Amino acid sequence: MQFLLHHNVIIQAITSSDHDILKRCRQTHSAGWVLSNALATIHSHLSMTMDSTAAYTVMRKALEGIPVASLTGTDMIGTPPSSRLDYLDSLALRTVDLFKLDGIITLKPEAFSESRANAFPPYELDRILRKGDESINKVPLLNIPATYPQMWNDVEHEMFKVVRSGHFILGPKVEELEEQIAAYTQAPYAVGVSSGTDALLLALMAAGIGPGDEVITSTYTFFASAGSIVRTGAKPVFVDIDPFTFNMDVGRIEAAITPRTKAIMPVHLYGQCVEMPPLLELTKKHNLLVIEDAAQAIGSEYLERRAGGMGDFGCFSFFPTKNLGGFGDAGMVTTRSKEFYEKMKVLRVHGMEPKYYHKMVGGNFRIDALQAAIILAKLIHLESWIDDRRNNAQRYLRLFQKHSLTEKFALPMEIFPRHVFNQYVVRVLNGTRDKLREHLQSHNAGCEVYYPIPLHLQECFKDLGYKKGDFPEAEKAAEETLALPVANEVTPRQQEYVVERIREFIS
Ligand SMILES: *Cc1c(COP(=O)(O)O)cnc(C)c1O
Repeated sequence: MQFLLHHNVIIQAITSSDHDILKRCRQTHSAGWVLSNALATIHSHLSMTMDSTAAYTVMRKALEGIPVASLTGTDMIGTPPSSRLDYLDSLALRTVDLFKLDGIITLKPEAFSESRANAFPPYELDRILRKGDESINKVPLLNIPATYPQMWNDVEHEMFKVVRSGHFILGPKVEELEEQIAAYTQAPYAVGVSSGTDALLLALMAAGIGPGDEVITSTYTFFASAGSIVRTGAKPVFVDIDPFTFNMDVGRIEAAITPRTKAIMPVHLYGQCVEMPPLLELTKKHNLLVIEDAAQAIGSEYLERRAGGMGDFGCFSFFPTKNLGGFGDAGMVTTRSKEFYEKMKVLRVHGMEPKYYHKMVGGNFRIDALQAAIILAKLIHLESWIDDRRNNAQRYLRLFQKHSLTEKFALPMEIFPRHVFNQYVVRVLNGTRDKLREHLQSHNAGCEVYYPIPLHLQECFKDLGYKKGDFPEAEKAAEETLALPVANEVTPRQQEYVVERIREFIS
């Protein structure tokens, strides 16, 4: 839950040297905000007993790790004080509203008694949190604003820096992101692009793949993996999946190779790497390129090598639902080849080099500086978010065991560490997946089917000539898979809620 810390609470915590409430409000699941307008009030209060610099230093130290909520000028001008509250408290109330906070922690809750906001004194925080846990009746699959307290000020600061600079496309922020993603994925080069889909398209174009060529990929993935292949004029050749990992079955690749095969596109589905060593062996033997679709797998590892850093190209998406998401569309291609790197930078801007001279036809695959700045500010948290997701996955295992549900479900397995759990996908084994999904949805327990129709059965790929029965494992998975909430912001109690609803359905 998230709260606004009234300045009277902060002043008391500092002057009484009892920082307990501030400590409590630095935690992810009980986050407290301070209103930016209240900082001057806190400072002047502290200045009554010490000099201005000392007051500032003391305040700054006490508020470390506490996010500051700022209202926009329009929000402030548009907030007249209510008859019972002074202007600052009226702004506080407005902040609770705008930031959708769960209440205001104040020494004088009675001042807010006529407002709709839930106001309570610091000693009641435990009770409020317990009550919140007990009254859970909704668990979204993803709740991005729940992660804001951890990163809000960095993100806001970087966003406004970009806006004030007036430089919105490519530029230094994008270069910084490219360097950091290259380092993170252990690839020498990276090119920021407009989306994960465009990352795939750009990699394929740079690889020179086009009409007459074939690219082998999984039939069980998000549409973009195969859609991008078709958009180059090449033909996707599908292989079935391994039933345990849902990733392409590497043992079936060689049979799909023809003289036209130019590349293999392994998709690290749900956040777990495809079994790369035998795949890389094969591509070496047949002289094929490897384009990793790592859109769901940033930070995923196989034998200590990272997703996107193993093939010739690694394609990433920063779509908001991915483990590292922007506030909009963005993507990245990593590569181990300087030549591909330079070609991609030219293709990204319509094949233009120098300005207004075009040797190739590229596209507009540019990334916004705003997205780059946001993603950079979030990147600092990625490792801890991955840890949270992995812990949540472990907790599901314990909860399924506790409720004796492991016979009815196949839980995700981490066959190749490390799985980063972009999705936590269970198999519903008794043919009731769709009914269970309805049951969970009717209790506001977020869940989703990734994916209900394998790509070889999609209408737009009819001409490829596949039919039902061609890839039985993928077709079976499409009928059995169900993703449960696993993102870093999901609380233990929310996971219990989801599993309790599942148990209720099964019994
Ligand atoms: C999300 C995703 C993409 C596409 O990324 P966008 O940024 O949405 O274009 C491609 N492949 C897979 C496997 C994905 O999950």
